[in-house]
Amino acid sequence: MERRGERGWVEVVCGPMFSGKSEELIRRVTRSRLARVPVQIFKPGLDTRFSLRQVTSHSSLSVEAQPVDSSAALLRAVNKETVVVGVDEGQFFDEELVSVCEALAVAGKQVIVAGLDLDYLGRPFDPIPRLAARSEYVTKMLAVCHRCGAPAAFTQRIVDSDELVVLGATDSYEARCRLCYDPSEPEQTRLEM
Ligand code: ADP
Ligand code: MG
Ligand code: ZN
Repeated sequence: MERRGERGWVEVVCGPMFSGKSEELIRRVTRSRLARVPVQIFKPGLDTRFSLRQVTSHSSLSVEAQPVDSSAALLRAVNKETVVVGVDEGQFFDEELVSVCEALAVAGKQVIVAGLDLDYLGRPFDPIPRLAARSEYVTKMLAVCHRCGAPAAFTQRIVDSDELVVLGATDSYEARCRLCYDPSEPEQTRLEM
């Protein structure tokens, strides 16, 4: 996979739920695809919310995606001809995602990873923060606070669970600004929208 001389890099698209990370990933890979650049898109095997073989946004955009069970499996699945490698829900991958993305960039690939930078308790959600620190481009997306309409960088869990991973969307989580965000109160009454 050694292709020194050709340009590769890593782009990270991060932020809370509902901030448009998947939309942005879909926009970027679609733009490349329209230019006939070979593209492959991956997602973690455990993200089965909408569809097994697609990346889907909350606004119902979607593209075909290949589910993989580990970063090593992702690396193995990248074809030699592929130039753009998209990855959604990067926070669900293991720590190796950082070295895998860097190896792909060195091999000339343009790697775009979307994922949550914070978990529901407001802690850095690795590997995204580590990957962001090692990447050329970082785009921090913001949602609209479900409470007050301010720019929202946090994801509030509104169901009671101690699990780090609770898959779901509108029924389990809200985007919140820093004033409305309160990780100590997982069960809060939702506002009617
Ligand atoms: P992410 O991948 O970051 O969770 P998506 O790309 O799936 O985000 O969805 C973004 C879309 O979600 C927006 O374009 C909008 O249609 C919808 N949406 C729902 N709730 C919100 C919110 N509170 N703030 C912003 N967008 C929201
Ligand atoms: Mg998404
Ligand atoms: Zn708010």
